[in-house]
Amino acid sequence: MQGLLGWEYEAFEASYGQGRQYGLRRNLLKGTEEEFIRVMPFPLEKISWAREGYYYDAAALPGRHVLHEAGAYYIQEPSAMAAVEALAPKPGERILDLCAAPGGKSTQIAGRMQGQGLLVSNEVIGERARILSQNVERMGVADCVVCSEKPERIASLFPAFFDRVLVDAPCSGEGMFRKEEAAREEWSPETVQMCAERQALILEEAAKTVKPGGVLVYSTCTFSPEENEETISAFLRVHEEYSIEETALEHILSPGRAEWTGHPAAGIGHTLRLWPHLIRGEGHYIARLRKRGNVTGELRESVVQKADAGKAGRRLTGDKKLCKLIEAFLREELEIGEAWMARHPGRLIRFGDQIYLMPEEMGSLTGIKVLRPGLQLATEKKNRFEPAHALALSLLTGDSGRMYRLTEQEAAAYLRGESVACGEQRGWMALSYEGYTLGFGKASGGQIKNHYPKGLRKSF
Ligand code: SAM
Repeated sequence: MQGLLGWEYEAFEASYGQGRQYGLRRNLLKGTEEEFIRVMPFPLEKISWAREGYYYDAAALPGRHVLHEAGAYYIQEPSAMAAVEALAPKPGERILDLCAAPGGKSTQIAGRMQGQGLLVSNEVIGERARILSQNVERMGVADCVVCSEKPERIASLFPAFFDRVLVDAPCSGEGMFRKEEAAREEWSPETVQMCAERQALILEEAAKTVKPGGVLVYSTCTFSPEENEETISAFLRVHEEYSIEETALEHILSPGRAEWTGHPAAGIGHTLRLWPHLIRGEGHYIARLRKRGNVTGELRESVVQKADAGKAGRRLTGDKKLCKLIEAFLREELEIGEAWMARHPGRLIRFGDQIYLMPEEMGSLTGIKVLRPGLQLATEKKNRFEPAHALALSLLTGDSGRMYRLTEQEAAAYLRGESVACGEQRGWMALSYEGYTLGFGKASGGQIKNHYPKGLRKSF
């Protein structure tokens, strides 16, 4: 770094003597900014490069709060929020997050998509894909399919399919040295080389999935030019259908460094570097590429049409009998109203005894290792349904006539798995705290029986 940074090195090194920055991101799918600020129990300070991002003080421990379990926010390193800003996802689009676990960027993308379109979140490692799926669920995301495939398989399943693709590549993690001991311990020059080779392979596959006129964003959390400017320059040497595109972040972040690579691609100075000595965040690199093709205009129009169709069409599709039964269950037993129904069109599918709402844009699931084909609505029992936890997390204030408001103490007790006292109510109740739904319970005899999933229960 000394060799690369020259006179700047001293400031860079000094940043390692300062504490790391802590960030969280408001869930754009739930409530307004005003409501969020009102209910958050600790001070927040805006992050300049992500409109839903905030700094918090480490002592606040936001991971140990009821609102975290309700998906009101996602804890995410501040610099990591910039990649999605560069991707600039829009409602109604088809988006791929190719290296998605644990889901920081996927859930940010979902927020920007506002429940319209299709997000495919892929993570090659099965165990990590499960965590990704849980985070997608906690954030109340409906239009997201979580799968676990190698990049080459994704490329063969979705040729030229996506409006935008994010490759948040596995890297040597140099930018995380201040944050994670493990990143420091795992680093070696060989790791940098190995990562650079792997990134080239991943990028090659990702490129195949982008529509003509679409956007491909590449990001890492490392400093080495081999994994950043050089990866992008080498990619562009063999992909003349792609070029580097400027982003709206250039005035806040630092430019990519042409002088650090032998054959820099044109425009490498428009890629972005995030330096811990220059901004309040850890180290990152971001490149935004555009695939040639004159469909950008059409793309925009079709996106608007899709979004409008979503609003007006609002129909459940799939097996007619199942649609009728599920619609009756949602409307009668859960008193879910028009607003939720209008926001959640899609195809009903059965996965064993589980009923999911799959985004219409997804097409077929055949031959894909899918962990979550969409929003889980219910479990089918003999002659009845039980509502799925994921469904509760997709409900906003006013979406259901069966909302039951909890105090903070009651909410904490509910998350521990305890019953909650209630009035005369009977049947399914969606329990909420400060306007954020936590899960379901079933009321009878003055008590709401706890249906919070056992695996998620915890003490606060
Ligand atoms: N985007 C995620 C987020 O914001 O939460 C972080 C992604 S992390 C930087 C990179 C991911 O790539 C890891 O989850 C890792 O398991 C995955 N990965 C590892 N090897 C891979 C490969 N050969 N192809 C695709 N992904 C891989």
